[in-house]
Amino acid sequence: MRWSLSICLLIAFFSFQPLKAAEENRPLVMASNTIIADIAHQLIGDEARVISLVPLGTDPHNFDPSPADLKLSTEADLILVNGMNLENWMVNLIKKTGSTAKIDTVTKGIQPIFTGKFYTQVDPHAWLDPILGKTYARNISASLSDLLPKHKETIQFNLKVYLDLLEEVHQYSLERLKEIPQKKRLLITSHDAFRYFGERYEISVKSVLASSPDAELTVKDMIQLTEIIKNSEVGAIFPESTINPKLVNQIAKDNNLIVGGQLYTDSLSEPEKDAGNYIQMLYHNVNRIAEALLGERQKAEYDLWKSDFSDTLMSLGILVFLAACFLWMWFNVKTQHGG
Ligand SMILES: [Zn+2]
Repeated sequence: MRWSLSICLLIAFFSFQPLKAAEENRPLVMASNTIIADIAHQLIGDEARVISLVPLGTDPHNFDPSPADLKLSTEADLILVNGMNLENWMVNLIKKTGSTAKIDTVTKGIQPIFTGKFYTQVDPHAWLDPILGKTYARNISASLSDLLPKHKETIQFNLKVYLDLLEEVHQYSLERLKEIPQKKRLLITSHDAFRYFGERYEISVKSVLASSPDAELTVKDMIQLTEIIKNSEVGAIFPESTINPKLVNQIAKDNNLIVGGQLYTDSLSEPEKDAGNYIQMLYHNVNRIAEALLGERQKAEYDLWKSDFSDTLMSLGILVFLAACFLWMWFNVKTQHGG
């Protein structure tokens, strides 16, 4: 018995060593955020270690990398960044570490949308449009093929499958959003992240904050937002997973809007939740937006209330009936005894 256990342990030890060595030999791909990391992982599978510098659920606009994060960048073979001014800070810091990794911008070829008062800022959130997501995937596949030329065919095959999945999300989004009436085609979110999505699906966008969640909110901005809400028939405002919902909740209360389901903009969710990967995130967002702007959410709440009310009414009816039966029997018994 003891011998067999020792043999098992010995086999486990020797079989573990080569696996560990293989793990360490795999190239390290560092993406600036979880969305880019997921696309890279879908294309390359386990042939490379893919990590995200900005952790899950963290705001990438104001992320402050630790010395350990920066040290990891010196071990990376390839660094994938969004560009469009999202991570200038990160690229500068990485260059200072002496990292020799190739830094590729995954939004190459995408026409940027300018925002801000004087249209001097770029909205970096091109990934929220699935058609532009295809450009991300194509650029990432080219970077990965350069890094791992012997896996080029697999990467190309995975890319083709992935592009089809993105096309399906796009077709689904078109279908899901087409019934929203013109006056309700306004998407109000915490920060300015839906310009590309809005342009693709002909939905106006307005945000409480600017394109970075740490932007200052002025009284003038607030008055302007209230005016826009009053002049539209929009009934919902949306919180985002990486931003404190306090302000959105307050605006909803002040303007009699419902708070739509939480949207994922700057980060994926935990793997087992609603937006565990990029494709799921796109489906999740379009469903939350459609159900709130189409009033399905309010209707569902009303139906639930109506069904609860009918149940209560039914219970009351039964109680009244039983009480009436009891009273009738009591009255009969009393009459017979009296008689
Ligand atoms: Zn953002």
